[in-house]
Amino acid sequence: MRLGIAEFSLESVTFLPETTGVDVFEEGALRGQDVIAGNRGANTAPGGFIDICEAEGVSMQGIVAVGAGAAAAASEEALARYSEEIVAGLDGLDGLLIHLHGALATPANRKADAHVLAAIRAAAGPDFPVACAMDLHGNLGPEVVEAANVVTGYHSSPHVDMAETGRRAARILLAAMQGRVRPVMALAKPGIMLPSIFTATALRPLADIKRQAAAWQAREKALLDVSVFCGFAYADTPDTGMSVVAVADGDEALARRAADDLAEQCSLNRFRLLKRELVHSIGEGLEKAAAVEGGPVCLLESADRMNDSSWTLRELLARDMGPAYAPFFFDPEAAAACVAAGAGARLRLAFGGKSSEKAGGPIETEVEVLEAGEKRFRITGPLKTGTEISLGPSALIRAGRVLVSLVSANYSAIDLDCFSQFGLSPQDFRYILLRSKTHFREVYEPLCSAIVILDTPDWGPADLTLLPYEHVPPETFPLGGASAEGT
Ligand SMILES: [Zn+2]
Repeated sequence: MRLGIAEFSLESVTFLPETTGVDVFEEGALRGQDVIAGNRGANTAPGGFIDICEAEGVSMQGIVAVGAGAAAAASEEALARYSEEIVAGLDGLDGLLIHLHGALATPANRKADAHVLAAIRAAAGPDFPVACAMDLHGNLGPEVVEAANVVTGYHSSPHVDMAETGRRAARILLAAMQGRVRPVMALAKPGIMLPSIFTATALRPLADIKRQAAAWQAREKALLDVSVFCGFAYADTPDTGMSVVAVADGDEALARRAADDLAEQCSLNRFRLLKRELVHSIGEGLEKAAAVEGGPVCLLESADRMNDSSWTLRELLARDMGPAYAPFFFDPEAAAACVAAGAGARLRLAFGGKSSEKAGGPIETEVEVLEAGEKRFRITGPLKTGTEISLGPSALIRAGRVLVSLVSANYSAIDLDCFSQFGLSPQDFRYILLRSKTHFREVYEPLCSAIVILDTPDWGPADLTLLPYEHVPPETFPLGGASAEGT
């Protein structure tokens, strides 16, 4: 038996101008046996596929693995190219284990994950076994569960269970191929969109809903998996929002009951899922942060999808509130200028706020370059542990009491690599300015004395009614229908 391993993942922020092209996907692309070597032992979905195949003595063929994190919608060319490459790689295989994020979209195709799976199904035929491990932030439509035999998503956000999700997908698919189970699926959509910052699975009532999902599985032995997807509200698609997928062994009615019950729980809790009280304006949030006693305060500019919003950083510089650090601030142009100037240089720099008209515009100020050069390392944090990343030309700069690490890759700081890579320690700072949504919580919740969420005008606001949706059904909460409190 020989299984294909593939990944094509993007969390598409469709409101951003431009598209994520083949050039961006190719930066970390793996092919052939490098897909296996690059993911073996890593906490990634393909890493989990590999664990199970190796434990079961199943041989593997790496096809292609490309991923670009959260960024602008994929280009049409990228969707066509990687769909074709995956399909072309199926020859001679007995089945496929694939990781798709679930929020892949192009300007013209708002159901792009389904497009990839449908292309696989069309080429390989109705009997070809396909398991798809997805991100908890996937926006699932019926076409996804129709085209795959097994669909399962990360159960946790922060996604500390990426490899476990890959292992689950592979275990169920192999059991099906050996005739031990017959997976059938049901999808239920409660019609709810959530800002990413409120999708941390430790937050109630989401934590309660996750517990109910686990209780369904504990009670019903024929349930092979129940995944509660939170969706990705910054991708404007007909499927945007929460989804529940239940996978049962042969019992479609059971899968339907479990999925519908959990979707109903989401619907009943929709106002509590949307934690408006946790979000502050910049001024209000900085005042709240200043009043916090003790160690570092995490300022979370969660509306920023490109790691370059200048709104809060500009205000931190103007207010001179204390030692602050803004890690992994994305500006290839400014990073290159600092690398050219070299460590020790002082220069006038215009950095950040360039990704769209909502990103705040560049900050112009005198800076000192403390360190400059290429940055490439293996992740030591709890997510994607062991994966190599390249931030390209990078620089640590100082402006007043604020330190900024400028990088050339759009990559969110979620663990302590953003400190250690520049010889820094979180204890050196009063404020740490992050742009992660939930993943930072695994490391920063225990570390920081408070997390203050600031809602800035960028393309990922907590108030979803500010976004110009065109494809999301208008009745989706909180846009319309039963969105008024008390209904
Ligand atoms: Zn996610």
